[in-house]
Amino acid sequence: MSAQKARKLAAGNWKMNGIKASLAEATALAEMFPEPKVDILLCPPATLVAPMAAALFGSKVDVGGQDCHMKASGAHTGDISAEMLVDAGADYVILGHSERRADHGETDHIVAEKTIAATMAGLAPVVCVGETLEQREAGETLGVIRKQLSASLPDAVDLEKLVIAYEPVWAIGTGKIPTLEQIAEVHDDMRATLVDRYGDGANGIPLLYGGSVKPGNAAEIFATSNVDGALVGGASLKAADFSGIVKALEEA
Ligand code: PEP
Repeated sequence: MSAQKARKLAAGNWKMNGIKASLAEATALAEMFPEPKVDILLCPPATLVAPMAAALFGSKVDVGGQDCHMKASGAHTGDISAEMLVDAGADYVILGHSERRADHGETDHIVAEKTIAATMAGLAPVVCVGETLEQREAGETLGVIRKQLSASLPDAVDLEKLVIAYEPVWAIGTGKIPTLEQIAEVHDDMRATLVDRYGDGANGIPLLYGGSVKPGNAAEIFATSNVDGALVGGASLKAADFSGIVKALEEA
C-alpha cells in the first residue's frame, strides 16, 4: 500500500504587520481562489484575527493566530489562549516561530505545552523548527531539527491537524534560501523522524518550508522531496505576491 500523501498548504504569517485596511489584501486573495486546489491560511496579528475571520467568512481561506498561551486562562497579561483564538474564528495557530523563540525565550518544552493547549482547543498547530547559521555551518542541522521535533511535539498529537514548518533561521526575511538538496535532506529526515515516532499516519503531516519564499522561487521549492507547502512571511502581505505562491503550489 502506498504511503498516505500529505495535504498541501500555503500559509502566510503577517507577523507584526497589518491594520484593518490590510484586510482588503485577504479578501482579494480569497476572491482569486474561490475553489483552491490547496489549503490556504493567513495568520494576521492577534488584533486582526476576528475581523479577518469575519471578512473571510464563507471563503476558502482559513485564519490562524501567531501564538497562544499554554494555559487556558488566568493572570497572563498580554497573552491570548488557544480557546480565545477559536472564539475569534481561527482554525490554526503558529507555534515556536524562531522570532518567538528568540524574542520571548520560548523553549522546546514551552512549544510542546502550547501544542497541547492548541490541540485541546481544536486548533491545528503549525509547529516551527529550524537551525541557525552557526548550527548549519557546524554541520549540526539534522541533529538540531531532530531534537527540536522531539522536544517541541508532545506524544499525543492530532495527526489529522498537525503541521510542521522547517524554517532555517538564517533564511527568514534575508532573501537567502538553502539549496534544494539541503531542503530535501531536512524534509526527508523530518518525515522519517515523524513516522518513526507517530507511525504511518505521520506521512500525512504537511511539511512546510519557510524562509524567503517568493513567487519566483516557489515552484522549485514545491518540487522538492517532502515539501508540501510553505510558511511565508513578507510575500504573504500582498495578495498579488501570495497568489503567485498559491498558484505554484496548486501546480506542483
Ligand atoms: C516567516 O516569517 O515565517 C518567514 C518565513 O518569513 P519570510 O518569508 O519573510 O522569510
